[in-house]
Amino acid sequence: MADRIFNFSPGPAILPEPILEEARQDLWNIGGSGIGILEHSHRGATFKRVISEAEADCRQLAGISDDYAVLFLQGGASTQFYMLPANFLPADRTADYLITGSWSKKAMKEARLCGGVHVACSSEDANFSYIPEESQTRYSEAPAYVHFTSNNTIFGTQFRSEPTPPGEVWLACDASSDIFSRPIHVDRYGLIYAGAQKNLGPSGVTLVILRRDLLERRVRELPSMLDYAIHAEGGSLYNTPPVFCVYVLGRVVRWLLEQGGLAEIEKRNAEKAALIYDVLGESEFYTATATENSRSMMNITFVTPSEELNAKFIAEATKQGLDGLKGHRSVGGMRASIYNAFPRTGCEVLVQFMRDFAAKNG
Ligand SMILES: *Cc1c(COP(=O)(O)O)cnc(C)c1O
Repeated sequence: MADRIFNFSPGPAILPEPILEEARQDLWNIGGSGIGILEHSHRGATFKRVISEAEADCRQLAGISDDYAVLFLQGGASTQFYMLPANFLPADRTADYLITGSWSKKAMKEARLCGGVHVACSSEDANFSYIPEESQTRYSEAPAYVHFTSNNTIFGTQFRSEPTPPGEVWLACDASSDIFSRPIHVDRYGLIYAGAQKNLGPSGVTLVILRRDLLERRVRELPSMLDYAIHAEGGSLYNTPPVFCVYVLGRVVRWLLEQGGLAEIEKRNAEKAALIYDVLGESEFYTATATENSRSMMNITFVTPSEELNAKFIAEATKQGLDGLKGHRSVGGMRASIYNAFPRTGCEVLVQFMRDFAAKNG
């Protein structure tokens, strides 16, 4: 679109343009009902259809069986940091956390309020620039669950595959920044959660995929809004859900299906990321901040030789319509967030800009 620029924002982030167009229409009048999506009762037929299609499309896209509940909750991934241990970590037991960035640390901090925690591995010694090897991971004896963050939005690292917890211990994952960016083996997890605003839709809704048998293993009485079983029973309609967010999430998931599904999306994401990593690899001017075998396909973090040049890079890029490239303060430099909806053209334009900038300033 002529009046839109390339948006590398880490989140809330870019959405597919056809979905924004459709939302504009449905905001006014959805499905010929004469009422916009924001104005329909969440108990009415129109919204019931929206939410049940969103759930069905998530199931189809990621191959989620009926053994799992698919929930649309509020409070962001940050509420899940507490909700997970509140439901499943007894006071006298321990949960294991793989610490690969600020978000995993925040998740573990909440678990401490409920029971014991154990750091199974950590890459904090090198400012979270890598994902620890499985051989470096030490689980506690019989943890209640094992939690990891599949993609570290701030540090630009990503797990290549799921960690393997000991025995029958189930895996919990914060997949906020790489959900549905590649195929996922849902059956290897007990619980997956993701705030929508990176890969799925607007902020305000959190997707939770939860193995149903765990619902019977809740370990304490909880306020209703924090109880997974209550949300599952009510089909995410225990209280008024964020109707517009669920609507957009559903449309984005349908768009992903239309693009060819997760294998195709992964292929495109890998190609997009390779364009940028190739420049980092061949250049003396730029340095990628993440270790090669841990690099994220969603958030690409890099620096120039100086703070001054980093600032100049960001200022000049912004002027040329490449927005949102400033890195998080804990890493510095630049971060290019190229989620599912980010177009390949935008990566090509960035690559050209990077080459020109290095030639002029190197
Ligand atoms: C953005 C992000 C969060 C925080 O999500 P909220 O919805 O703001 O609570 C948590 N985890 C990861 C991996 C994220 O990228």
